[in-house]
Amino acid sequence: MKNKVAEDTYLVGIGVSPGIGIGEVSLVDQRPLVDQSLIDIGEIEGELLRFQQALDLAKRQLQKIKQTVSDQPHLREHLYILDTHLLILDDEMLVSGTEKGILERINAEGALTQVLEQLRALFDNIDDEYLRERRSDVDAVGERLLRILTGVGERTIGNIGRKSLVVAHELSPAETMQMDRSKVLGFITDKGGRTSHTAILARSLNIPAVVGMETITSMVFDRVPVVIDGTTGVVILNPSAKTFKEYLERKQSYEFLERDLENYRNLPPVTTDQVRVSLRGNLEIASDVEQVKKHAAEGIGLYRTEFLYLGRSEPPDEELQYQSYCEIVQQVDGKPVTIRTLDIGGDKFGPELNLADEANPAMGLRAIRFSLQEDRLFRTQLRAILRASTCGKVQIMFPMISGVAEIKACKRILSEIKGELDREGIAYDHDIAIGIMIETPAAVMIAPLLAQEVDFFSIGTNDLIQYFLAVDRGNEHVAYLYEPLHPAILRALKATCDAANNAGINVCMCGEMAGEPLYTQVLVGLGLNALSMNPACVPRVKRVLRQISKRDGELLVDKVLKLSTSKEVSIVIEQEMRNRLPDIFAQTLI
Ligand code: PEP
Ligand code: MG
Repeated sequence: MKNKVAEDTYLVGIGVSPGIGIGEVSLVDQRPLVDQSLIDIGEIEGELLRFQQALDLAKRQLQKIKQTVSDQPHLREHLYILDTHLLILDDEMLVSGTEKGILERINAEGALTQVLEQLRALFDNIDDEYLRERRSDVDAVGERLLRILTGVGERTIGNIGRKSLVVAHELSPAETMQMDRSKVLGFITDKGGRTSHTAILARSLNIPAVVGMETITSMVFDRVPVVIDGTTGVVILNPSAKTFKEYLERKQSYEFLERDLENYRNLPPVTTDQVRVSLRGNLEIASDVEQVKKHAAEGIGLYRTEFLYLGRSEPPDEELQYQSYCEIVQQVDGKPVTIRTLDIGGDKFGPELNLADEANPAMGLRAIRFSLQEDRLFRTQLRAILRASTCGKVQIMFPMISGVAEIKACKRILSEIKGELDREGIAYDHDIAIGIMIETPAAVMIAPLLAQEVDFFSIGTNDLIQYFLAVDRGNEHVAYLYEPLHPAILRALKATCDAANNAGINVCMCGEMAGEPLYTQVLVGLGLNALSMNPACVPRVKRVLRQISKRDGELLVDKVLKLSTSKEVSIVIEQEMRNRLPDIFAQTLI
């Protein structure tokens, strides 16, 4: 029986939406218990009908939520999530698979549970974190159907009654959207990662959230006092008076800094010694453009086009791609949009592209290797990108380049397509900039050679760290070795920036490292001209950028390059930033 939580029970999850939440728990979890049983042949028809009715009711529920949500401007941009759920309700595998189970004499909820497990297994095999997280959409739809079938009823957190911190196993986007924001002081969930919908929504609603706690729902009960720090992922149950006071102070100072961020919105991203560093947004789905505009990012430094290919039985055709790209480009007021060609391969994708099974997919036929092999697919995408270059300012970027021959091959194909468009009288930007992701050790080692071939580099630190340190970026067992400040990574960044600057081409960073304000001074000192990040990170990075100088950044780089472990590097950087900007960094570092 859970009736007591020890004072100051200190837990750590994944902080996905910054801010401090202090209050009491509202436990909203009540998952349906599924009873799998065999039915008689005579019951089959009734079960099929019951399943069909559940599908219909689920659709009506979602339509109703859509209607409510569309009246709320701050949530309108997330309506696509509900559309995704409606699409899942029509999914062939979900519907026919369950019906097949029922025909094999399993009751409706049992048959559905089996299909959901199969779908989950498919998602679990996906390497890419963002795509893998989309499994949560299937889970949310599955839970909605199971609630109907088992009679548990629709779960809603719209009426939690009092101001509290919502604790749940997982929150579906529909539930998150229905809630009364004025009552929610924060979210804590067992499941989820940085790119789960709860995380994305919490960020855009500006509510602190910690996810991936694994067992929080079994540790707390209603009204347990709790504090959370959505930046560090710290959750403290039953805080002592001392902890409570400390977090109250942190909350006040965090909120003061947040209000202060607004003041930076319209200020240029320049250092105190007048060096301009462009701060751009990373984009996965078209509706994220709203975030790019909201946070005043200077265009899009990385558009991950693979999300356009997701969930279709056929790859998107040229027209559809052109329309999507153009729509995005037109929305950013003439600022550059860097469209990255398909970065997919191995098990980084579902069944749509018929990819072969590979023993070592991260090093297999992915990204540019896949595009160069799938000539038709590649040419279609390049045609669409070139055509979209008349809609605003577009740059093309190729992922995972590991040799000069690859970029030469890309350029040859691109020039053939330009010739084709010329012959057909179709307009495009003849001076379109071409760039490559620097994310393999090979690319770093030959950066001076690659710099002769392209207009810009963009450093993909997510993969660069994985390949340089031989640490699978998605494997929690080796996560402790995944160190952005490893001396090898700092040297790799330095070599890349030097090669770009010597050749007079731009060098951007678009991996997660770019959005961490703690690293901003080092990155500027390394000579990066642009940083592209989750748009919500732009204001914080800009605030730091405007208070540091490139010269001090260079001195800091010289200092950390002499150190031999990432621990030493991180201590020096934290100290430097804390001394330089105590109001910002004293609070966030542990
Ligand atoms: C990277 O590898 O850092 C990157 C930005 O690309 P992705 O995360 O899409 O692989
Ligand atoms: Mg990458």
